[in-house]
Amino acid sequence: MFIGHLAVGFAAKRLAPKASLGTLLASAELADILFPILVLLGWESAGYVGGANPFLALKLDDYPISHSLLALIVWGALVALLYRWRRGYARGAVVVGSLVVSHWVLDFISHRPDMPLWPGGPKVGLELWASVPGTVAVEGSLFVCGVWLYASGTRARDAVGRFGLWGLVALLALLYTASLLPAGAPSPTAFAVVGMIITAVFLSLGVWVDHHRAVRGGEARGAPEARGAEASGR
Ligand SMILES: [Zn+2]
Repeated sequence: MFIGHLAVGFAAKRLAPKASLGTLLASAELADILFPILVLLGWESAGYVGGANPFLALKLDDYPISHSLLALIVWGALVALLYRWRRGYARGAVVVGSLVVSHWVLDFISHRPDMPLWPGGPKVGLELWASVPGTVAVEGSLFVCGVWLYASGTRARDAVGRFGLWGLVALLALLYTASLLPAGAPSPTAFAVVGMIITAVFLSLGVWVDHHRAVRGGEARGAPEARGAEASGR
């Protein structure tokens, strides 16, 4: 799942309005941020099996550190503690920690039974991916709802906040559409590096756009992550 995870990150702005969209998106995507790094380190692996279904083209059955339920609970707790310590925003800490774990739930729904409960433990998965239209319908609806919750819960401070948001949404929709097209077999290194570059680009855009938007009702006033933007935006 790709834009489904990001949908949850967008929606979470309603639960933790003082947290940056970049942080929320990164937390929901943490497992997929760690995975390519661990592939490059040789600690996890991905194989290419191809086939007509683009969602099942990669063989993902060796990612205990980035994608097991136990590991994601530990990563979530670490991220929450780090966030609480750095930002002093308790509600945000609970939300970012939960977002990290939400990745497992969405991947459990979409993946083949390749999602480990713990490293070396049983693997589970409901395999929504077996149906391309079903996956696109579920993930697309999640994305529309998530973006709507973010867009209606915030307002643009300027043109960057207005057009940047829709630029980011269009870019993500384009990347998702491109991922559905048939492609050649990538090497594990190319897969990891391209994944890291794409993630870095849309997370940077998320941080940038969020700095140019304010939470409706002014809840973000004095917010740990929004304070700088609030001051520079006036
Ligand atoms: Zn994942």
